[in-house]
Amino acid sequence: MASTAYVSTWPTDPRAFESLFEATPSAIFALDRAGRIVGANAAASVLTGYSRDELTALDISQLALESVAFVTEALAAAEKREASAAEMDFQRKDSSLVPVQVTTIPIVDGKHAGGVFFRVEEAQYLTEMRRTRAHMRTLAYYDSLTGLPNRIFFQERLRDALEHAPGQLPCVALLFLDVDRFKDINDTLGHALGDRFLQLIGERLVLLVKNRGIVARLGGDEFVVLAPCAGDGEVHELAEELLATADQPYRIEGYEQFITTSIGISVYPDHGRNDQALIKNADIAMYHAKEQGRNAYFFYDEALEAPIRSRLAQEKQLRLALKRDEFVLQYQPIVQIADGNPIVALEALVRWNHPSEGMLGPDAFIPAAEASGLIVPLGEWVQKTGAVQMREWQKRFGFLVLAINISARQFHQRDLCERLVEIVNSAGLPPQAIEVEITESMALFDAEHAIETIHGLKRIGAQIAIDDFGTGHSSLNYLRRFDADHIKIDRSFVAGIGGPGSDDGIVKAIIAMGHSLGLKIIAEGVEMPEQYEFLRTQGCDLVQGNLFAPPMDPLQLEKLLAARA
Ligand code: C2E
Ligand code: CA
Ligand code: CA
Repeated sequence: MASTAYVSTWPTDPRAFESLFEATPSAIFALDRAGRIVGANAAASVLTGYSRDELTALDISQLALESVAFVTEALAAAEKREASAAEMDFQRKDSSLVPVQVTTIPIVDGKHAGGVFFRVEEAQYLTEMRRTRAHMRTLAYYDSLTGLPNRIFFQERLRDALEHAPGQLPCVALLFLDVDRFKDINDTLGHALGDRFLQLIGERLVLLVKNRGIVARLGGDEFVVLAPCAGDGEVHELAEELLATADQPYRIEGYEQFITTSIGISVYPDHGRNDQALIKNADIAMYHAKEQGRNAYFFYDEALEAPIRSRLAQEKQLRLALKRDEFVLQYQPIVQIADGNPIVALEALVRWNHPSEGMLGPDAFIPAAEASGLIVPLGEWVQKTGAVQMREWQKRFGFLVLAINISARQFHQRDLCERLVEIVNSAGLPPQAIEVEITESMALFDAEHAIETIHGLKRIGAQIAIDDFGTGHSSLNYLRRFDADHIKIDRSFVAGIGGPGSDDGIVKAIIAMGHSLGLKIIAEGVEMPEQYEFLRTQGCDLVQGNLFAPPMDPLQLEKLLAARA
């Protein structure tokens, strides 16, 4: 009796299946043979955003936009009572796309097959994957520090621009912008503030360029502006504006900081027909701007390449020379004026014994070594070789100081002091036997940093000489704060002693000022007895120059030291 309360037989009225169709969580579309939507369930409406009435006015291919072929095949298969399945995108009413998995079920009406059920389910994992992909795309295409497009993005855009350029644009300009001496900024401010600097620069460039082009960061301190333009005049204007905006003061941590930039420009089609060539040539022009003194822009020109090629070749040679041990040190005595001119120190002066060009002086290769960074290993070679040599001479001839020159790049090395201590220690030479010569202009370039480094060097026991003194613009205040031991009067002033200019007065003033600050004075480049006499009567403490001894090879110098002993 109770069983009559249940439906115990298969429903025979087809309308009974409508409840199943309606309530199924999958979206189901009933299609006729032509693909017109003749019925859709509630889930279909939710998935697509269309009402049921709207859906029944559509053709399935209006939803499965890119998969029309599949729809046609599925309908044909249904005629043969075959099912099919696929993944595709459905376009919603709001035009957004949703990735879906579709299964088709042939509609079999008695003996006839005709039309098809489209069962459609949102492919969740595909949606996830798309989201991740979009995120990855941002990661891959944007620079995380500045938020600017990165090199990959930029290159794609450049290629796009070139593809569309013929006919449409007179030209496309690429302005390659590099911050001048950014390494020094990083070394003095630290990397966190260096990063902040780059962000600020990026923001400024974007503000300036606006919709005239795109700004990207290529890496490090290199930015690039890609700008379609009507002609060279427009590019000149933009470059001027870029230089001017970059060198406005930056407020970082409450301080005003200044930078300048160098810009290299290449223009399509004159300076290259593809992205690679344009980037390379803008880079070459940028290098040229640096070499011409920075804070400038240059257009690419074939003629710029030759000097750069030869410098690259020289760099390669220098690298090899270091490997092959082609550098040699000469030593030049520094003698005291009082007590019969004893030799108190030796300045190490590097030379390159070039296999084909003979002995080259430092002016011929130090600039290239400095520019390429090779000065660091070369400088360490000088320190090591000098220290070992000096240790030997000290054993035989008593205490002598080794004076070494360091260049700007070395001076800004963070671990300069530590490395130097390590080198002299392993040579067995006390740090007190080292004098580091720092040029006046180097010390003044970033005086606060110089003071810190000089104090570090003094803490390890080394002495300090301010080299080429008189060529820069030291203030008394800095000179006092540098806390050096010696001033070396630049040889150009010594050469002018007794001459028509005012060099006598300058030399006199330097000596008096140095003494008032408790510094000893070395005059370099002393060639003539009259120069020596003048210096002696003015109270100069030490002299160095060909009058006493030119720079000498170790063997020669040994003879001199032995004769004097
Ligand atoms: P500097 O430090 O001013 O070195 C003194 C220069 O004056 C040397 O030139 C020396 O040969 C020259 N000199 C010495 N006595 C006289 C003289 O009586 N008359 C004249 N006219 N010149 C004299 P050098 O050896 O060609 O060195 C040139 C510069 O190269 C040096 O100038 C120094 O700044 C740099 N340098 C030399 N060795 C090194 C090194 O190991 N590392 C670095 N970073 N720079 C170095
Ligand atoms: Ca020197
Ligand atoms: Ca000098």
